[in-house]
Amino acid sequence: MSANGLIDNYKHKGARKSLIEELKRKGIKSEQVLEAMMRVPRHYFFDKTFWDRAYLDIAHPIGEGQTISQPYTVAYQTELLNVSKNDKILEIGTGSGYQCCVLLELGAKVYTIERQKTLYERCKLFLPAMGYKAHFLYGDGSKGNKIHGPYDKIIVTAGAPTIPQALMGQLTIGGILVIPVGDEKTQKMHLIQRISEQEFQSETLESFRFVPLIGEQAW
Ligand code: SAM
Repeated sequence: MSANGLIDNYKHKGARKSLIEELKRKGIKSEQVLEAMMRVPRHYFFDKTFWDRAYLDIAHPIGEGQTISQPYTVAYQTELLNVSKNDKILEIGTGSGYQCCVLLELGAKVYTIERQKTLYERCKLFLPAMGYKAHFLYGDGSKGNKIHGPYDKIIVTAGAPTIPQALMGQLTIGGILVIPVGDEKTQKMHLIQRISEQEFQSETLESFRFVPLIGEQAW
């Protein structure tokens, strides 16, 4: 794949393969998720100066005080979402657009929302130029996005102090919400499933460190 003169050569593919092996060793089991991540050239989301860091299992600054999430975190959240083809997914925190591309590679229909205008504008141009088609939204995702809902899956890629009620209400019955919840320093991943109109099941999982979710139903 090549976009805007970007090159994905055998060196990048080799580094990406090693990263995928590392994610497997760290406990990621879903072949679909690993294959989807193998198809997305993560270095495209970095400034060329930092291409040598793109296949390390680390988060990296993307401007506006924000980060592209660590690959392990992307794999972990995506695995929890248990994506099926044509799932309607709301991603809160578009950031670099990388997570969005992984979801698109899994055949999902993605609505992605970002509160930082510069990042929103960048992704809205850059992802389609790479051939990735999503619905790009600008605004406060802590309230979800009612107009396009309900969603089969909702993924929050910033740390929330509590679970925003609005997001639970925008899930389909059987729908899944994956969200890191905690204080500014550390958050626990929460996996929530809507069982019926009123009932939800919740599981608390591994600890992570995300940038804060900022908005009406957040920090
Ligand atoms: N998913 C991103 C990626 O693949 O690069 C990583 C996202 S970064 C860790 C978190 C993003 O959430 C930041 O871009 C931040 O601006 C955004 N964010 C924080 N609060 C938000 C809100 N209320 N609504 C939408 N986006 C928000």
